[in-house]
Amino acid sequence: MRIFDPHIHMTSRTTDDYERMAAAGVRALVEPAFWLGQPRTTVGSFTDYFDGLIGWEPFRAAQFGIAHHCTIALNPKEANDPRCREVLDVLPRYLAKDRVVAVGEIGYDSMTPAEDEVFAAQLALAVEHELPALVHTPHRDKARGTQRTLDVVKESGIDPGLVVVDHINELTVRPVADAGCWTGFSIYPDTKMSPDRMVTILQEHGLHRVLVNSAADWGRSDPLLTLRTGEAMLAAGFTADDVDRVLWRNPVEFYGQSGRLQLDAVDTEPTFEGNSILRGGA
Ligand SMILES: [Zn+2]
Repeated sequence: MRIFDPHIHMTSRTTDDYERMAAAGVRALVEPAFWLGQPRTTVGSFTDYFDGLIGWEPFRAAQFGIAHHCTIALNPKEANDPRCREVLDVLPRYLAKDRVVAVGEIGYDSMTPAEDEVFAAQLALAVEHELPALVHTPHRDKARGTQRTLDVVKESGIDPGLVVVDHINELTVRPVADAGCWTGFSIYPDTKMSPDRMVTILQEHGLHRVLVNSAADWGRSDPLLTLRTGEAMLAAGFTADDVDRVLWRNPVEFYGQSGRLQLDAVDTEPTFEGNSILRGGA
């Protein structure tokens, strides 16, 4: 199976993970800008990180035949720190770059007034730059956070087809789909969403506008959970073409709206056999 992970933080992963992902069939990914654990105190810390997302990480991924893209934004958590506000001023420079395929992650962490302001400002940037938006939903108070997210998305005037609302679950999938947005699911090893729960959601809601990712952030996570979800889909009776739609064609369609996906250097032939061969190589 060919896999496009639409949300994975490779900055927090080792090179061995790239190797395992390539062997598992991952051929393309999107790495959203997020927080780095240690709070950043100046705009320079952000620009060095953003430069890594458009320079170093694509180079690292290419060693394993993986096409790397990113999304750029001031993340919701650090939107609350006045020292980071200046990041909004440098975003337009990055949103013009190749391989930057969306504005993100934006949205809510604790649903503060500062987050409201920064979220709306960045949705406006997505509209202005004609880019998709990757929207994070809070892990606490998810139902209320998701509803408020959808209200702000609507007020912004952005086409909902350009928005993925991520980290959703059984309780929030319906309102997000009804709003016309893409539904994003982060699969985790032992909390939040599992491959089997994901399969049940796909059985109930279908495959339209669904994106499945492994997130692979600073918490316990596993960059192969996209593959595990594909395997669980097959075990539950979905076809190889269904798996290809969810794990490859859907993310290509969503991020393709940026006009900036660069998949020509990687093997994009669909394969429906087992994933054991390490592709690419330096
Ligand atoms: Zn994330």
